[in-house]
Amino acid sequence: MNISAELISIGNELLSGRTLNTHGQDLGEALTAIGLQLVRDTTIPDDIPTIGSAVQEALSRVDLVFVSGGLGPTSDDITRDALGRMLERKIVLHEATVNHLKGWYKKRGRSITSAGERQALVLENSSVLPNSIGAAPGQRIDLSGDKTLFVLPGPPNEFNAILSEEIIPWLQDRYTDARPRLVRIVHTKGIGESDIVTILEQASFEPEDVDLGFYPGMGKVEIRLGADPEKVTEITQAEATLLDLLADYLNVD
Ligand code: AMP
Ligand code: MG
Repeated sequence: MNISAELISIGNELLSGRTLNTHGQDLGEALTAIGLQLVRDTTIPDDIPTIGSAVQEALSRVDLVFVSGGLGPTSDDITRDALGRMLERKIVLHEATVNHLKGWYKKRGRSITSAGERQALVLENSSVLPNSIGAAPGQRIDLSGDKTLFVLPGPPNEFNAILSEEIIPWLQDRYTDARPRLVRIVHTKGIGESDIVTILEQASFEPEDVDLGFYPGMGKVEIRLGADPEKVTEITQAEATLLDLLADYLNVD
């Protein structure tokens, strides 16, 4: 089973360098753990036409598209308008969320304003995904061709809460056959990447059905082997060969 996902992170501050975009890492890790693949991570500005075209393109490529940011109460929070236009769907007030927001504001000694209430606006016919730690909910929008669009708020703790509480369980129910890829990791020290490559080339080390990733840092290299779930023999053999070839440089600390 090969189900691919894309993430579109929306926010001028992510492009200007003000804010580190953490959603790609968090989503990639969460999807990889349940056997789904994040295959593209795009960052775009708060701009209605750019949002519309980026989401449309992503939906033409993959089954699962995640959009984050721009769901708050301020004038630069335009994601739902952009999606409403692109999908030709009305934007409606979600009463259960209005009640949740009233309670949320009350707990903080405040009463809800009309700006605050905007966070309860959702696309018509979306499934609203409760936000257990913040104001704006997430949304799941089921589209033709078994495609699914998830819309999530920008704050990383809210993004991650809705992802782990609402979305990951739903994806596990939907893609029951998905299995995480196999991963083996070999750590080296005292040898550079290019010298590792020379050793592997001289031994004609090109394992079939096993991907290799090299991640260098400060005198060390992490080599990651990856394979489909049924390729246990292949990845085990490749790992054993690699450990043998690099025996003089293994970092076992
Ligand atoms: P927004 O939902 O666009 O109003 O953003 C709310 C907060 O979340 C702001 O402080 C954003 O900078 C932050 N934020 C939005 N997207 C991301 C992201 N991809 N990674 C980290 N922080 C983000
Ligand atoms: Mg924003």
